[in-house]
Amino acid sequence: MRYKKDIVVLKFGGTSVGDIEKIKRVADRVIRSKNEGKSVVVVVSAMGDTTDKLIGLAGEIASNPSRREMDMLVSTGECVSGSLLAMAIQEKGYKSVSLTGGQAGIVTDELYSNAKILNIRTERILKELRRDRIVIVAGFQGVDTGGNITTLGRGGSDTTAVALATALKAKYCEIYTDVEGVYSADPNMVEEAKKLESISYDEMLELASSGAKVIHLRAVEFAKKNNVILHIRSSFNDNEGTWVMDDFKKDVRMERPVITGVTYDVGEAKVSIFGLEDKPGIAADLFGRLAEKNINVDLIVQNVSEKNIAAISFTIRTEDVPLAKKVLKKMKNVRTEIDTEIAKVSIIGAGMQSNPGVAAKMFKILAEKDINIEMISTSPIRISCVIKENRIKEAVKALHAGFELA
Ligand code: ADP
Ligand code: ASP
Ligand code: MG
Repeated sequence: MRYKKDIVVLKFGGTSVGDIEKIKRVADRVIRSKNEGKSVVVVVSAMGDTTDKLIGLAGEIASNPSRREMDMLVSTGECVSGSLLAMAIQEKGYKSVSLTGGQAGIVTDELYSNAKILNIRTERILKELRRDRIVIVAGFQGVDTGGNITTLGRGGSDTTAVALATALKAKYCEIYTDVEGVYSADPNMVEEAKKLESISYDEMLELASSGAKVIHLRAVEFAKKNNVILHIRSSFNDNEGTWVMDDFKKDVRMERPVITGVTYDVGEAKVSIFGLEDKPGIAADLFGRLAEKNINVDLIVQNVSEKNIAAISFTIRTEDVPLAKKVLKKMKNVRTEIDTEIAKVSIIGAGMQSNPGVAAKMFKILAEKDINIEMISTSPIRISCVIKENRIKEAVKALHAGFELA
């Protein structure tokens, strides 16, 4: 049976539910949407830095804790904020119920700490909405087909929200956070950064995948695939935020700027492997071993071989370094170096496709600051450079100013 009323999904991040006063304010915000006649589904993150604290507790007990128990542990953070928010709403005289990811019908695969949503059984949520309740769903978690609790990766509550919006055919999905929207650079690093009125899915995908943690990458993938309109906005005021959608107001600007934003990522490490025999199958073997252990590889550079001996450098997430070390140890006759003091700076913009010289300008801006580029990678709408981590702030600011984004 089709659900008749308009459903909206609102997601509140960790800082937005950081303490009791903030949770009460979120309750007011949610009730306002309810009073506009909508059926409201709310997704919450854990309060403040709860998830980090829980991970810290595990570290005090085990050096290599079971992945299943880690997910069991960190999933509790979202249950706390969800139940408190339901209570706050009830205190204000409205009906509300909080659900875990599993109770909300979110079924995932078995990949602990980075699980993917397979499907959402919406019956329970729809039943609660029919009873006129405001439904609160714990973000970042689901349950696998064996009944084990899984989590979706850091920042994954955004993905819960967009997945629910898709499954419930919601009108839109609002992501409430601690900044007013998506900016031309991290507003907490670059004071001159500007809020974007709108951004296309493709540009948002590149921003999210290159370090702008304002929204989880998989949430954007979901939104693009299912045409879910996202509104990223502040949970502390009513200002209009940033709309993530295609064809926003159909070209009010005659020409889009060449560059939309600058991002950075300090969470990667550079791995270099020396002494590889230069013959077919070497890269397949190396990256096959890493893929087998679910280690994601980002940038890759292979140098020209001398006397049939080649070197390959690539970047991986810092948290995968211990596992990568184990994998690489099994390779014979090669020497490995790992540098965790690197950072990636990227410029993103759909306009670069029709503007030659953008890469040259980026390299020149970095050169003028005497910042050395160690690796480069590009997509049609992004250019990334790996540099020393201690130069990252300078690089981001210089590129933001150099491309006149302020
Ligand atoms: P939440 O807890 O609400 O999920 P996050 O901390 O995950 O919030 O994401 C919001 C943060 O993203 C901001 O505080 C900001 O520092 C950071 N950020 C990085 N790049 C950008 C950007 N381009 N625009 C907006 N915020 C950004
Ligand atoms: N609480 C989880 C985290 O800190 C998920 C989220 O906030 O989206 O990563
Ligand atoms: Mg987040």
